[in-house]
Amino acid sequence: MGKSSKDKRDAYYRLAKEQGWRARSAFKLLQLDEEFDLFANVTRVVDLCAAPGSWSQVLSRVLIKGEKFGRTAWRDKEARFRQQMLGILREGEQTDETVDAGVEHLKPREHVKIVSIDLQPISPLAGITTLRADITHPATVPLLLSALDPDYDASSVGTQATNPVDLVLSDGAPDVTGLHDLDIYVQSQLLFAALNLALCVLKPGGKFVAKIFRGKNVDVLYAQLKIFFEKVIVAKPRSSRASSVEAFIVCINFQPPAGFRASLEEPLGVGGRLEEMLKEREAQKTDAETRDAVGVSEQGVVEMEVYDDTPEDKERNTRWIAPFIACGDLTAFDSDASYQLPEDYVSLDPVQPPIAPPYKRAIEMRAAMSGPQR
Ligand code: SAM
Repeated sequence: MGKSSKDKRDAYYRLAKEQGWRARSAFKLLQLDEEFDLFANVTRVVDLCAAPGSWSQVLSRVLIKGEKFGRTAWRDKEARFRQQMLGILREGEQTDETVDAGVEHLKPREHVKIVSIDLQPISPLAGITTLRADITHPATVPLLLSALDPDYDASSVGTQATNPVDLVLSDGAPDVTGLHDLDIYVQSQLLFAALNLALCVLKPGGKFVAKIFRGKNVDVLYAQLKIFFEKVIVAKPRSSRASSVEAFIVCINFQPPAGFRASLEEPLGVGGRLEEMLKEREAQKTDAETRDAVGVSEQGVVEMEVYDDTPEDKERNTRWIAPFIACGDLTAFDSDASYQLPEDYVSLDPVQPPIAPPYKRAIEMRAAMSGPQR
């Protein structure tokens, strides 16, 4: 598909190029922040699966430069973009003031530390430490900890008192095969890897936000996350296509069970440790707590736990239904819609083309096979 037809088909792709983001994913993080105020009181962040780096760009602008994207900030830019599409405002017509409308400039935060990791190289971003590593590999934890603090003590891994990080983000996605169950499985393994890293570095009270693919057994995953976080909410930003199984879990207030210690040797998601912890947690609850417990979260959405009275259901874990929030309101672009562009619209190049994409070799091989071009 050509650049310009993608511009029409995917407003966020085009908007990202207009606004200087390396990927359309930036809007997902902005819309999640809009809903959950993710960056409040945050100075130390780990951005997992970060290439090409649009989430890291958002972090850099908010934490390092001290910009605040209020509910209207990027939307003002979006409105300008819509005007351009309608031909009311042409490229180059806007003043700097217009471009900057809605972004508040606050004092840059102190002692900011951002570490971004990906299998692929990430083009440098000022003030951000980038690591090329596999988040599923055990060696990545010490690598990350020494990037956060060169004097880190390996023996303290997993003891939350010394954990330095306020927020762990993971936008990890495998190369999708199209085999639905396989893709969901591989994605869940990435999520567990991200969770294990988060458990090793998050401060009590910290937050964890990660991409998930909503498959058959996703309820169990939500219940497992609830062992470690006070709130677990499933969020679907408007910039994430409604037609995709993608969503984000937003886990707030890290409060692991007493005595829990993250272990590099026995990561969660491998063996039965997580299942046992879930059973223990359920066993500690009283019937009254468990039966049809309904709570209203700060976002005003209902969360509930249900079980039937049959002994088998009681034996199986109670099902905890995570609240689901669609974020980014209806004034935002619909990521599944195509938009008409002005006739004279000039398609822009991506801000940061991938440095070493996994498909690079395939392109080289195809070029070699088709011989010299006439
Ligand atoms: N958040 C990024 C941004 O805003 O630019 C986009 C992330 S992209 C959707 C998913 C990334 O996951 C890819 O760059 C891919 O290389 C990375 N990834 C997949 N498996 C990984 C792994 N095992 N370790 C590290 N990164 C991984």
